[in-house]
Amino acid sequence: MTAKGGIPRVDLPAGVHLDTLAVREGLPRTPWGENSEALFLTSSFVHPDAATAAARFANEEEAFVYSRFGNPTVAMMERRLAALEGTEACIGTSSGMAAILLLVLGLLEGGDHVVCSRSVFGSTIRLLQDFGKFGVETSFVSQTDVAEWRAAMKPNTRLLFAETPSNPLTEVCDIRALADLAHAHGALLAVDNCFCSPALQRPAELGADLIVHSGTKYLDGQGRVVAGAVCASEALVRDKFVPVMRSAGMSLSPFNAWVVLKGLETLSIRLQAQSARALELAQWLQRQPQVAFVYHPGLPSHPQHALAMAQQGGVGGPVLSFVVPGDDAAAARRHAFTVIDATRICSITANLGDTKTTITHPASTSHGRLSEAQRQAAGIGQGMIRVAVGLEHVDDLKADLARGLAMIPT
Ligand SMILES: *Cc1c(COP(=O)(O)O)cnc(C)c1O
Repeated sequence: MTAKGGIPRVDLPAGVHLDTLAVREGLPRTPWGENSEALFLTSSFVHPDAATAAARFANEEEAFVYSRFGNPTVAMMERRLAALEGTEACIGTSSGMAAILLLVLGLLEGGDHVVCSRSVFGSTIRLLQDFGKFGVETSFVSQTDVAEWRAAMKPNTRLLFAETPSNPLTEVCDIRALADLAHAHGALLAVDNCFCSPALQRPAELGADLIVHSGTKYLDGQGRVVAGAVCASEALVRDKFVPVMRSAGMSLSPFNAWVVLKGLETLSIRLQAQSARALELAQWLQRQPQVAFVYHPGLPSHPQHALAMAQQGGVGGPVLSFVVPGDDAAAARRHAFTVIDATRICSITANLGDTKTTITHPASTSHGRLSEAQRQAAGIGQGMIRVAVGLEHVDDLKADLARGLAMIPT
């Protein structure tokens, strides 16, 4: 739930920095004076008398009523994340996909049209396609070519949906250009800010209307919970999303909200440290004879390097991909598996956003449901390996990858 008139805010001085907001924004302390935010494990809230209960149920008085649509711990996370993204409000959801579902249910109706990057998270593509049966049509376009987005616009286009950088190619789209395009057509721009988080990239400052999060990734940052959120204006959250949450109930549990809330306190230093390790690892990989190509926005060889640096606070982010060659697709796949299987530190998992470095083979996992032709079109070959860099010492990560690379003939 977002800021409620009847529920006070933390009284921070105006203009404090992101690092301070990440640690301090939330609700005021309870009368007990706890220094660490309380975890309110309660499904409902009691009222002083029947008349007050009636007023609260009629929305005449703001108060916590029932945890499906309002809980102090969830509200703390929402206020903190909204403060970091620089939006008026935020609404927590049970997962990142629930956040995108909430976006669709809250904003769209049959007959509406969406334009979405072809390179977004696979389940996002699937969800938008599924809404075709309710009359919501989606056009999928290039991640990087704004002209394709422009050409796809229709009179009934209500929403543009982008995710940047993309997974696993780390392609960057121009948030400001897409926001301008959306607004020129009376549409809204939503950005999935999962890979950079507000520590590096604040889409609202670049004109985005909605920011979607999988709290499961960097916001928690330690691979512990599934969570999500939508950040937007007070009006959108109050009028479009809270009513859906109240009836549909894809609510964020207070416990998961509390875990994410504490994760936000270290978000900025984690993203800086993990991104620095990722850049060093990317530069090292570029020098390895068994590596054909490295994708990381921090590398000058990255096609959108300049845009990424401008849009992401000069930081490439914690995710990189690289390609090991092979005479044919089968050989490339064998070499990629050799590198992955030789690691002893990296976790072999498609998840990301953890302090533990994760390594995955996109062509057979996250993008395994695509046909080989679709994968080729997307530029995701059998030799590609994605690494989401954690907080281990970078020399140990280099050694972990060098072990398998040494087994590949050059
Ligand atoms: C993981 C992910 C999601 C979905 O989040 P869940 O919390 O797993 O539901 C959405 N977008 C991106 C970019 C992701 O990486």
